[in-house]
Amino acid sequence: CGIVGYIGRRNAASVIVGGLKKLEYRGYDSFGVATTGSGVQVVKKKGRISECGHLAENLTGNCGIGHTRWATHGVPDDINAHPHTDCSGDFAIVHNGIIENYMDIRRSLESEGHVFKSDTDSEVIAHLIEKFYEGDLLSAVFRLLPSLDGAYAFLAVAKDENRIVAARNSSPLVIGIGDDEYFASSDMTPVLEYTQKMIFPEDGDVMDISAGGISVYSDKKPVVRPEELVEWDID
Ligand code: GLU
Repeated sequence: CGIVGYIGRRNAASVIVGGLKKLEYRGYDSFGVATTGSGVQVVKKKGRISECGHLAENLTGNCGIGHTRWATHGVPDDINAHPHTDCSGDFAIVHNGIIENYMDIRRSLESEGHVFKSDTDSEVIAHLIEKFYEGDLLSAVFRLLPSLDGAYAFLAVAKDENRIVAARNSSPLVIGIGDDEYFASSDMTPVLEYTQKMIFPEDGDVMDISAGGISVYSDKKPVVRPEELVEWDID
């Protein structure tokens, strides 16, 4: 699938929908966008972003995440479309890849009272954030990562936090660096319209992205990943 995140001064939903259209080759059975600012707002639909994407463009906020899906677990429909939320609706995630042990995680969360809405493997990530959240999204992601087996690139947002936390392990993810604005994407094409400056995270990296800056962590410790200037003619 394709994932796109944006934080900065622009309307996040428009940037994300535009970006997802460029990633449609990676998956096109459904799409969705979540923005934060006034709660977590979500629009997600079965269908092609190129035909129905405008439905998500009236979401407000300068921070958001989006997804165009290639279903692996759960049929393509509105409910299985990403983003996925937890029980409270305070957190949303988009995920590319497969969480191999999702059934075990899901059963144990259900025994703790979590109610799942979709048939996807991805939804466990949103509920794990809810379980581990104590006011800081980055710490919650650090705490949940040891539970996950499999390949992922995911982006997470929280209602009361103006930031995107991203994690990657064996799935593609690039970070675009603009002027007080940041982009996260499965490939460079959605980013190149705005900036040529990029970071290519390594497996196991966690990124904490806010409008004021980005921090990268490996094993919970800050690391420096070089900013690279991508020379690419998008015309
Ligand atoms: N495994 C997830 C799902 O089926 C993500 C698929 C994807 O990468 O699009 O929803």
